Amino acid sequence: MFDLDTIRKDFPVLQQKVHGKPLVYFDNGATTQKPRQVAQAINDYYEKKNSSIHRGVHFLSSQATIEYENARETVRNYISARDKAEVIFTSGATGSLNLLAFSFGEKFVKEGDEIIVTEMEHHANIVPWQLLCSRKKAILKVIPFNDTGDLEIEKLDELITEKTRLVSVIHTSNVLGTINPVEKIIEKAHNKNIPVCIDAAQSIQHMPIDVQKLDCDFLVFSAHKAYGPTGIGVFYGKEEYLKQLPPYQGGGDMVDKVSFETTTFNQLPFKFEAGTTNYIGAVGMAEGLKYIQSIGLNNIAKQEYELLTYAKRKFEAIGGITIYGNSATKTSILSFLIDGVHPLDAGMVFDKLGIAVRTGTHCAQPIMQHFGVDGMIRASLSFYNTKEEIDYLCRGIEQVKMMFT
Ligand code: PMP
Repeated sequence: MFDLDTIRKDFPVLQQKVHGKPLVYFDNGATTQKPRQVAQAINDYYEKKNSSIHRGVHFLSSQATIEYENARETVRNYISARDKAEVIFTSGATGSLNLLAFSFGEKFVKEGDEIIVTEMEHHANIVPWQLLCSRKKAILKVIPFNDTGDLEIEKLDELITEKTRLVSVIHTSNVLGTINPVEKIIEKAHNKNIPVCIDAAQSIQHMPIDVQKLDCDFLVFSAHKAYGPTGIGVFYGKEEYLKQLPPYQGGGDMVDKVSFETTTFNQLPFKFEAGTTNYIGAVGMAEGLKYIQSIGLNNIAKQEYELLTYAKRKFEAIGGITIYGNSATKTSILSFLIDGVHPLDAGMVFDKLGIAVRTGTHCAQPIMQHFGVDGMIRASLSFYNTKEEIDYLCRGIEQVKMMFT
Protein backbone atom coordinates (compact mmCIF):
# COMPACT_ATOMS: atom_id res chain seq x y z
CA MET A 1 0.00 0.00 0.00
CA PHE A 2 1.34 3.40 -0.99
CA ASP A 3 -0.15 6.05 1.29
CA LEU A 4 1.39 9.40 0.41
CA ASP A 5 -0.11 11.27 3.38
CA THR A 6 1.40 8.84 5.86
CA ILE A 7 4.71 8.82 4.02
CA ARG A 8 4.97 12.61 3.98
CA LYS A 9 4.38 12.70 7.73
CA ASP A 10 7.58 10.67 8.11
CA PHE A 11 9.54 13.64 6.69
CA PRO A 12 9.20 16.59 9.10
CA VAL A 13 11.48 18.73 6.92
CA LEU A 14 8.86 18.71 4.16
CA GLN A 15 6.28 20.37 6.45
CA GLN A 16 8.13 23.69 6.68
CA LYS A 17 7.74 26.99 4.88
CA VAL A 18 10.56 28.68 2.96
CA HIS A 19 10.26 32.42 2.28
CA GLY A 20 6.72 32.12 3.63
CA LYS A 21 5.77 29.45 1.05
CA PRO A 22 5.36 25.71 1.62
CA LEU A 23 8.65 23.99 0.78
CA VAL A 24 8.64 22.06 -2.50
CA TYR A 25 11.73 19.89 -2.41
CA PHE A 26 12.86 18.85 -5.90
CA ASP A 27 16.57 18.40 -5.16
CA ASN A 28 16.49 14.72 -4.33
CA GLY A 29 19.25 13.87 -6.78
CA ALA A 30 21.64 15.94 -4.66
CA THR A 31 20.40 14.46 -1.42
CA THR A 32 17.12 13.00 -0.23
CA GLN A 33 15.36 14.09 2.94
CA LYS A 34 15.53 11.73 5.91
CA PRO A 35 12.55 10.03 7.46
CA ARG A 36 11.97 10.32 11.22
CA GLN A 37 13.01 6.67 11.58
CA VAL A 38 16.55 7.43 10.40
CA ALA A 39 16.94 10.51 12.61
CA GLN A 40 15.57 8.57 15.59
CA ALA A 41 17.92 5.64 15.11
CA ILE A 42 20.90 8.01 15.00
CA ASN A 43 19.69 10.02 17.97
CA ASP A 44 19.04 6.85 19.99
CA TYR A 45 22.53 5.69 19.23
CA TYR A 46 24.11 8.90 20.49
CA GLU A 47 21.92 9.02 23.58
CA LYS A 48 22.03 5.38 24.65
CA LYS A 49 24.47 3.21 22.77
CA ASN A 50 27.52 5.12 21.60
CA SER A 51 30.80 3.23 21.77
CA SER A 52 33.60 2.52 19.32
CA ILE A 53 33.23 -0.76 17.48
CA HIS A 54 35.54 -3.78 17.16
CA ARG A 55 37.98 -2.78 19.89
CA GLY A 56 36.34 -3.22 23.24
CA VAL A 57 35.28 -6.15 25.37
CA HIS A 58 32.86 -4.00 27.33
CA PHE A 59 29.09 -4.17 26.88
CA LEU A 60 28.54 -1.01 24.84
CA SER A 61 31.38 -1.76 22.45
CA SER A 62 30.11 -5.29 21.80
CA GLN A 63 26.60 -3.97 21.22
CA ALA A 64 27.92 -1.30 18.86
CA THR A 65 29.88 -3.92 16.94
CA ILE A 66 26.78 -6.10 16.60
CA GLU A 67 24.73 -3.16 15.30
CA TYR A 68 27.45 -2.20 12.82
CA GLU A 69 27.66 -5.72 11.49
CA ASN A 70 23.86 -5.94 11.38
CA ALA A 71 23.90 -2.78 9.25
CA ARG A 72 26.34 -4.50 6.92
CA GLU A 73 23.96 -7.44 6.71
CA THR A 74 21.09 -5.05 5.84
CA VAL A 75 23.15 -3.66 2.97
CA ARG A 76 24.16 -7.16 1.84
CA ASN A 77 20.53 -8.16 1.77
CA TYR A 78 19.47 -4.92 0.02
CA ILE A 79 21.85 -5.48 -2.91
CA SER A 80 21.69 -9.31 -2.70
CA ALA A 81 25.46 -9.66 -2.31
CA ARG A 82 26.70 -13.20 -1.78
CA ASP A 83 28.58 -12.44 1.43
CA LYS A 84 28.86 -9.65 4.01
CA ALA A 85 32.62 -9.63 3.44
CA GLU A 86 31.91 -8.07 0.03
CA VAL A 87 30.26 -4.99 1.57
CA ILE A 88 32.69 -2.28 2.60
CA PHE A 89 31.61 0.90 4.34
CA THR A 90 33.17 4.06 2.94
CA SER A 91 32.43 7.78 3.18
CA GLY A 92 30.17 7.60 0.11
CA ALA A 93 30.14 6.95 -3.63
CA THR A 94 33.08 9.31 -4.13
CA GLY A 95 35.08 7.57 -1.41
CA SER A 96 34.28 4.19 -2.95
CA LEU A 97 35.34 5.21 -6.45
CA ASN A 98 38.60 6.67 -5.15
CA LEU A 99 39.23 3.46 -3.24
CA LEU A 100 38.65 1.38 -6.37
CA ALA A 101 40.68 3.62 -8.66
CA PHE A 102 43.62 3.53 -6.26
CA SER A 103 43.58 -0.13 -5.23
CA PHE A 104 42.59 -1.56 -8.60
CA GLY A 105 45.09 0.76 -10.27
CA GLU A 106 47.91 -0.37 -7.98
CA LYS A 107 47.23 -4.02 -8.70
CA PHE A 108 46.10 -4.17 -12.30
CA VAL A 109 46.95 -1.00 -14.25
CA LYS A 110 50.28 -0.24 -15.90
CA GLU A 111 51.56 2.15 -18.56
CA GLY A 112 49.48 2.09 -21.75
CA ASP A 113 46.51 0.28 -20.16
CA GLU A 114 43.01 1.60 -20.66
CA ILE A 115 40.00 2.38 -18.47
CA ILE A 116 36.59 3.01 -20.06
CA VAL A 117 33.93 5.34 -18.65
CA THR A 118 30.98 7.08 -20.31
CA GLU A 119 30.43 10.64 -21.48
CA MET A 120 27.64 11.03 -18.90
CA GLU A 121 29.65 10.28 -15.76
CA HIS A 122 29.51 12.32 -12.59
CA HIS A 123 32.92 13.87 -11.88
CA ALA A 124 33.30 11.25 -9.12
CA ASN A 125 33.61 8.59 -11.81
CA ILE A 126 35.94 10.63 -14.01
CA VAL A 127 38.52 12.37 -11.85
CA PRO A 128 39.73 9.37 -9.76
CA TRP A 129 40.40 7.54 -13.06
CA GLN A 130 42.20 10.56 -14.49
CA LEU A 131 44.39 10.71 -11.38
CA LEU A 132 45.14 7.01 -11.82
CA CYS A 133 45.88 7.52 -15.52
CA SER A 134 48.32 10.31 -14.79
CA ARG A 135 50.04 8.20 -12.07
CA LYS A 136 50.36 5.15 -14.30
CA LYS A 137 50.46 6.74 -17.76
CA ALA A 138 47.28 4.90 -18.60
CA ILE A 139 44.53 6.04 -20.98
CA LEU A 140 40.93 7.04 -20.22
CA LYS A 141 38.44 6.19 -22.98
CA VAL A 142 34.83 7.35 -23.22
CA ILE A 143 31.59 5.77 -24.48
CA PRO A 144 29.63 8.67 -26.04
CA PHE A 145 25.90 9.33 -25.71
CA ASN A 146 23.50 10.64 -28.35
CA ASP A 147 21.21 13.68 -28.14
CA THR A 148 18.33 11.78 -26.55
CA GLY A 149 20.72 10.90 -23.76
CA ASP A 150 21.25 7.22 -24.61
CA LEU A 151 24.68 5.63 -24.59
CA GLU A 152 26.00 4.50 -27.95
CA ILE A 153 26.95 1.18 -26.45
CA GLU A 154 27.71 -0.44 -29.79
CA LYS A 155 30.83 1.78 -29.70
CA LEU A 156 32.01 -0.20 -26.68
CA ASP A 157 33.03 -3.03 -29.02
CA GLU A 158 35.52 -0.70 -30.75
CA LEU A 159 36.69 0.88 -27.49
CA ILE A 160 37.57 -2.40 -25.79
CA THR A 161 41.07 -3.62 -26.65
CA GLU A 162 43.46 -6.12 -25.12
CA LYS A 163 44.73 -3.17 -23.01
CA THR A 164 41.35 -2.49 -21.36
CA ARG A 165 41.51 -3.20 -17.63
CA LEU A 166 38.15 -1.95 -16.34
CA VAL A 167 34.84 -0.43 -17.47
CA SER A 168 33.24 1.93 -14.93
CA VAL A 169 29.77 3.24 -15.78
CA ILE A 170 27.02 5.29 -14.26
CA HIS A 171 23.84 3.25 -13.82
CA THR A 172 21.44 6.19 -13.89
CA SER A 173 22.55 9.64 -14.98
CA ASN A 174 22.19 12.34 -12.32
CA VAL A 175 21.55 14.85 -15.13
CA LEU A 176 19.80 13.04 -17.98
CA GLY A 177 17.96 10.51 -15.86
CA THR A 178 18.89 7.80 -18.37
CA ILE A 179 18.87 4.29 -16.95
CA ASN A 180 21.79 2.75 -18.79
CA PRO A 181 21.71 -0.82 -20.15
CA VAL A 182 24.33 -1.97 -17.67
CA GLU A 183 23.44 -5.64 -18.22
CA LYS A 184 24.55 -5.34 -21.88
CA ILE A 185 27.68 -3.42 -20.93
CA ILE A 186 28.61 -6.08 -18.37
CA GLU A 187 28.00 -8.83 -20.92
CA LYS A 188 30.20 -7.15 -23.54
CA ALA A 189 33.00 -6.50 -21.03
CA HIS A 190 32.83 -9.96 -19.47
CA ASN A 191 33.07 -11.54 -22.93
CA LYS A 192 36.57 -10.08 -22.92
CA ASN A 193 37.20 -10.88 -19.23
CA ILE A 194 37.08 -7.22 -18.22
CA PRO A 195 35.53 -6.32 -14.85
CA VAL A 196 32.82 -3.68 -14.58
CA CYS A 197 32.08 -1.13 -11.85
CA ILE A 198 28.59 0.35 -11.56
CA ASP A 199 28.03 3.80 -10.06
CA ALA A 200 24.63 3.22 -8.48
CA ALA A 201 24.46 6.58 -6.67
CA GLN A 202 21.30 7.50 -8.61
CA SER A 203 19.73 4.06 -8.99
CA ILE A 204 19.99 2.38 -5.58
CA GLN A 205 17.05 4.45 -4.24
CA HIS A 206 14.86 4.04 -7.34
CA MET A 207 14.97 0.40 -8.46
CA PRO A 208 15.80 -3.07 -7.18
CA ILE A 209 19.46 -4.02 -7.69
CA ASP A 210 20.73 -7.56 -7.34
CA VAL A 211 24.51 -7.55 -7.73
CA GLN A 212 24.64 -11.30 -8.27
CA LYS A 213 22.05 -11.29 -11.06
CA LEU A 214 23.62 -8.19 -12.56
CA ASP A 215 27.01 -9.85 -12.21
CA CYS A 216 28.80 -6.51 -11.78
CA ASP A 217 32.23 -6.80 -10.23
CA PHE A 218 32.02 -3.58 -8.22
CA LEU A 219 29.18 -1.26 -7.23
CA VAL A 220 29.18 2.01 -5.31
CA PHE A 221 26.60 4.28 -3.73
CA SER A 222 26.00 6.85 -0.97
CA ALA A 223 23.52 6.58 1.89
CA HIS A 224 22.46 10.23 1.81
CA LYS A 225 20.77 9.86 -1.59
CA ALA A 226 18.91 6.83 -0.25
CA TYR A 227 17.11 8.45 2.71
CA GLY A 228 20.08 7.83 5.03
CA PRO A 229 22.71 10.08 6.63
CA THR A 230 25.67 11.83 5.03
CA GLY A 231 29.25 10.66 5.28
CA ILE A 232 28.59 6.97 4.71
CA GLY A 233 28.34 4.81 1.63
CA VAL A 234 29.16 1.44 0.18
CA PHE A 235 31.84 -0.12 -1.92
CA TYR A 236 30.72 -3.56 -3.05
CA GLY A 237 33.19 -5.88 -4.75
CA LYS A 238 33.30 -9.53 -5.67
CA GLU A 239 35.41 -11.36 -3.11
CA GLU A 240 37.71 -12.77 -5.79
CA TYR A 241 38.74 -9.18 -6.66
CA LEU A 242 38.71 -7.75 -3.14
CA LYS A 243 41.14 -10.44 -2.02
CA GLN A 244 43.61 -9.34 -4.67
CA LEU A 245 43.32 -5.57 -4.20
CA PRO A 246 45.81 -3.88 -1.86
CA PRO A 247 44.45 -1.69 0.96
CA TYR A 248 43.61 1.90 0.11
CA GLN A 249 44.27 3.48 3.50
CA GLY A 250 46.36 2.27 6.42
CA GLY A 251 45.56 2.57 10.11
CA GLY A 252 43.75 0.86 12.95
CA ASP A 253 41.37 -2.05 12.36
CA MET A 254 42.59 -2.85 8.84
CA VAL A 255 45.62 -4.71 10.16
CA ASP A 256 46.39 -8.13 11.56
CA LYS A 257 49.97 -7.86 12.89
CA VAL A 258 52.03 -4.68 12.91
CA SER A 259 55.72 -4.28 13.51
CA PHE A 260 58.21 -1.77 12.19
CA GLU A 261 59.51 -4.38 9.80
CA THR A 262 56.25 -5.54 8.31
CA THR A 263 52.48 -5.44 8.60
CA THR A 264 49.87 -8.02 7.68
CA PHE A 265 46.33 -7.06 6.90
CA ASN A 266 42.96 -7.94 8.37
CA GLN A 267 40.48 -10.12 6.53
CA LEU A 268 37.69 -8.74 4.35
CA PRO A 269 35.90 -6.43 4.64
CA PHE A 270 38.03 -4.83 7.39
CA LYS A 271 41.11 -4.63 5.18
CA PHE A 272 39.41 -1.64 3.51
CA GLU A 273 38.02 0.02 6.64
CA ALA A 274 40.94 1.84 8.25
CA GLY A 275 40.44 3.85 11.43
CA THR A 276 37.28 4.52 13.39
CA THR A 277 34.59 4.19 10.79
CA ASN A 278 31.32 6.07 10.65
CA TYR A 279 29.58 3.29 12.60
CA ILE A 280 26.63 5.46 13.62
CA GLY A 281 26.22 6.45 9.98
CA ALA A 282 26.14 2.77 9.05
CA VAL A 283 23.24 2.20 11.43
CA GLY A 284 21.44 5.24 10.00
CA MET A 285 22.08 4.01 6.48
CA ALA A 286 20.59 0.61 7.28
CA GLU A 287 17.53 2.37 8.68
CA GLY A 288 17.16 4.36 5.43
CA LEU A 289 17.37 1.19 3.34
CA LYS A 290 14.81 -0.52 5.58
CA TYR A 291 12.55 2.49 5.10
CA ILE A 292 12.81 2.09 1.31
CA GLN A 293 12.05 -1.62 1.68
CA SER A 294 9.01 -0.84 3.85
CA ILE A 295 7.52 1.19 0.99
CA GLY A 296 8.77 -1.24 -1.65
CA LEU A 297 11.05 -0.41 -4.55
CA ASN A 298 8.41 -1.42 -7.07
CA ASN A 299 5.91 1.01 -5.51
CA ILE A 300 8.60 3.68 -5.50
CA ALA A 301 9.47 3.10 -9.17
CA LYS A 302 5.79 3.21 -10.15
CA GLN A 303 5.05 6.40 -8.22
CA GLU A 304 8.17 8.18 -9.48
CA TYR A 305 7.46 7.15 -13.07
CA GLU A 306 3.97 8.63 -12.77
CA LEU A 307 5.40 11.89 -11.43
CA LEU A 308 7.98 11.99 -14.22
CA THR A 309 5.46 11.45 -17.03
CA TYR A 310 3.09 13.97 -15.46
CA ALA A 311 5.86 16.59 -15.25
CA LYS A 312 7.01 15.94 -18.82
CA ARG A 313 3.44 16.37 -20.13
CA LYS A 314 3.01 19.61 -18.22
CA PHE A 315 6.38 20.96 -19.46
CA GLU A 316 5.41 20.16 -23.06
CA ALA A 317 2.08 21.94 -22.61
CA ILE A 318 3.84 25.09 -21.37
CA GLY A 319 6.26 25.14 -24.31
CA GLY A 320 9.55 27.03 -24.58
CA ILE A 321 11.29 24.47 -22.36
CA THR A 322 14.13 22.23 -23.51
CA ILE A 323 14.42 18.97 -21.60
CA TYR A 324 17.88 17.37 -21.65
CA GLY A 325 17.64 13.61 -21.47
CA ASN A 326 14.73 12.01 -23.31
CA SER A 327 15.63 8.36 -23.11
CA ALA A 328 12.78 5.85 -23.16
CA THR A 329 14.33 4.34 -20.04
CA LYS A 330 14.53 7.20 -17.62
CA THR A 331 14.24 7.79 -13.90
CA SER A 332 12.55 10.76 -12.22
CA ILE A 333 15.15 13.40 -13.05
CA LEU A 334 14.24 16.35 -15.26
CA SER A 335 17.03 18.65 -16.39
CA PHE A 336 15.84 21.56 -18.46
CA LEU A 337 16.29 25.12 -19.62
CA ILE A 338 13.65 27.74 -20.17
CA ASP A 339 14.30 29.35 -23.56
CA GLY A 340 16.13 32.66 -23.19
CA VAL A 341 16.50 32.43 -19.40
CA HIS A 342 19.72 31.81 -17.49
CA PRO A 343 19.28 28.80 -15.16
CA LEU A 344 20.56 30.75 -12.16
CA ASP A 345 17.94 33.50 -12.66
CA ALA A 346 15.22 30.87 -12.84
CA GLY A 347 16.59 29.07 -9.78
CA MET A 348 16.48 32.27 -7.74
CA VAL A 349 12.86 32.92 -8.65
CA PHE A 350 11.95 29.33 -7.80
CA ASP A 351 13.69 29.72 -4.45
CA LYS A 352 11.57 32.75 -3.61
CA LEU A 353 8.54 30.55 -4.35
CA GLY A 354 9.79 27.94 -1.88
CA ILE A 355 10.88 25.54 -4.63
CA ALA A 356 14.26 23.83 -4.21
CA VAL A 357 15.75 22.84 -7.57
CA ARG A 358 19.42 22.56 -8.46
CA THR A 359 21.06 24.85 -11.00
CA GLY A 360 24.51 24.56 -12.50
CA THR A 361 26.58 21.81 -14.03
CA HIS A 362 25.52 19.05 -11.62
CA CYS A 363 29.10 17.74 -11.31
CA ALA A 364 28.88 16.56 -14.91
CA GLN A 365 30.60 19.20 -17.02
CA PRO A 366 31.14 16.88 -20.02
CA ILE A 367 27.32 16.64 -20.35
CA MET A 368 27.11 20.44 -20.46
CA GLN A 369 29.86 20.45 -23.09
CA HIS A 370 27.93 17.86 -25.13
CA PHE A 371 24.89 20.13 -25.30
CA GLY A 372 26.90 23.38 -25.49
CA VAL A 373 25.29 24.92 -22.39
CA ASP A 374 26.75 26.49 -19.25
CA GLY A 375 24.33 24.82 -16.90
CA MET A 376 20.86 23.41 -16.47
CA ILE A 377 17.99 23.47 -14.00
CA ARG A 378 17.35 20.07 -12.47
CA ALA A 379 14.18 18.92 -10.76
CA SER A 380 14.83 15.48 -9.29
CA LEU A 381 11.70 13.87 -7.91
CA SER A 382 11.16 11.45 -5.06
CA PHE A 383 8.18 9.26 -4.23
CA TYR A 384 7.22 11.79 -1.55
CA ASN A 385 6.64 14.53 -4.13
CA THR A 386 3.16 15.26 -5.44
CA LYS A 387 1.48 16.25 -8.70
CA GLU A 388 0.34 19.45 -6.96
CA GLU A 389 3.99 20.33 -6.36
CA ILE A 390 4.70 19.79 -10.06
CA ASP A 391 1.75 22.08 -10.93
CA TYR A 392 3.25 24.68 -8.60
CA LEU A 393 6.65 24.40 -10.32
CA CYS A 394 4.92 24.86 -13.67
CA ARG A 395 3.24 28.04 -12.43
CA GLY A 396 6.72 29.15 -11.32
CA ILE A 397 8.04 28.49 -14.83
CA GLU A 398 5.24 30.62 -16.33
CA GLN A 399 6.20 33.39 -13.90
CA VAL A 400 9.89 33.14 -14.85
CA LYS A 401 8.96 33.31 -18.54
CA MET A 402 6.91 36.46 -17.95
CA MET A 403 9.72 38.09 -15.98
CA PHE A 404 12.63 37.30 -18.29
CA THR A 405 11.31 36.94 -21.84
N1 PMP B 1 27.76 9.47 -8.81
C1 PMP B 1 26.60 10.03 -9.11
C2 PMP B 1 25.82 9.54 -10.28
C3 PMP B 1 26.08 11.06 -8.32
O1 PMP B 1 24.91 11.61 -8.62
C4 PMP B 1 26.83 11.48 -7.20
C5 PMP B 1 26.32 12.61 -6.31
N2 PMP B 1 25.75 13.68 -6.97
C6 PMP B 1 28.04 10.85 -6.93
C7 PMP B 1 28.48 9.85 -7.75
C8 PMP B 1 28.87 11.24 -5.76
O2 PMP B 1 28.19 10.99 -4.58
P1 PMP B 1 28.74 11.55 -3.18
O3 PMP B 1 28.94 13.02 -3.38
O4 PMP B 1 27.66 11.23 -2.21
O5 PMP B 1 30.02 10.84 -2.90
